[in-house]
Amino acid sequence: MKKKCKECGEPFLGRTDKKFCGDLCRNAYHNKSNGYRNALIRHVNHKLRRNRSILAELFSRDELQVSLEELSFLGFDLRFYTQENRFSNVKYRFCYDFGYHLDEENLLVKIVDRAYNRREQHEQSMAAEQE
Ligand SMILES: [Zn+2]
Repeated sequence: MKKKCKECGEPFLGRTDKKFCGDLCRNAYHNKSNGYRNALIRHVNHKLRRNRSILAELFSRDELQVSLEELSFLGFDLRFYTQENRFSNVKYRFCYDFGYHLDEENLLVKIVDRAYNRREQHEQSMAAEQE
């Protein structure tokens, strides 16, 4: 049965489940789709790192409460975060070690450093890993 290669479009003979005329075309096709996948991952990582650095910068300047407008102006993208936690029934979203609580009523963002509270715990677990 004649089929068309998914990569080069050339007709080829082969089993009905074959999609490519050969290894070269199959590898080329998968490398391209991995290229897209990697670009997507880079994009998400970039957004997360940028969000984190904005939170870290504000935190270091002791600006622990900013308006949502200012945060957006700085380039913060609310769609990207690494985890969501509740402490004392207050919802926090984190970008790695820095997090924030969004006060939706007043459009304020309160920034927290998660690593600060957990530093001791972390150092203990690091020490345990090294043993
Ligand atoms: Zn081909």
